[in-house]
Amino acid sequence: MKRIFIALLTLVCASVQAVAQESPLKGKQILFVYGGWDGHEPRQTHDLLKPWLEAQGAIVHSSQSLDAYTDKALMGQIDLIIQTWTMGTLTGEQERGLTEAVRNGVGLAGWHGGLGDAFRNNTEYQFMVGGQWVAHPGGKVDYEVRICDRKDPVTRGMKKFRMQSEQYYMHVDPGVKVLATTTFSGEHAPWIKDVVMPVVWKKYYGRGRIFYSSLCHDANDFRVPEAMQIMQRGIEWAAQSREQ
Ligand SMILES: [Zn+2]
Repeated sequence: MKRIFIALLTLVCASVQAVAQESPLKGKQILFVYGGWDGHEPRQTHDLLKPWLEAQGAIVHSSQSLDAYTDKALMGQIDLIIQTWTMGTLTGEQERGLTEAVRNGVGLAGWHGGLGDAFRNNTEYQFMVGGQWVAHPGGKVDYEVRICDRKDPVTRGMKKFRMQSEQYYMHVDPGVKVLATTTFSGEHAPWIKDVVMPVVWKKYYGRGRIFYSSLCHDANDFRVPEAMQIMQRGIEWAAQSREQ
């Protein structure tokens, strides 16, 4: 009897553990759109993140064309869009396809210029993302990222960390929920000394969840564990957009 009880207990513990470990990305349909300015290594970062997404159980549809946004059948079946497409141009039809899908509940996640410096002429797109890159004074600099929300699932338990990369100066929507910030030293642009700038945020656009991190100029920057963890957790949050 005792043996059976122990065996049953082990089975229950194992299944509880399995449920606890199941990724929120399991079964999620993700459209990963990559391209635009090559300096941000869209292909390399896609190749870096795709295996992780698939290991979590996500189904990844990769596209090197912005026409994916005009594919109504595809846009109707996906849970999340990950986009890395710096600069470039978005046609009216592509913009409508993208913004309508997000307003209707598809999540959107991205980082650095691939989301925050894409389609400079499309103000509705920028309204959706919640910020637009305008400068990175000094180019690659050593800077600190401070976590300002330790309760949010994206930044829970994290401590401040340093980056050796571009420190993005952005025009940011005051309506975003800021999770991490950086402070400018003023060394390369004295008039912005002590300016505190959002680095990581989340927001909504219609029913769609938007997640953005200004970190990671290239694939190598994802070697900073905190930068990778923030992106992975942000993707997990945005991928549950349709479930709310
Ligand atoms: Zn960059």
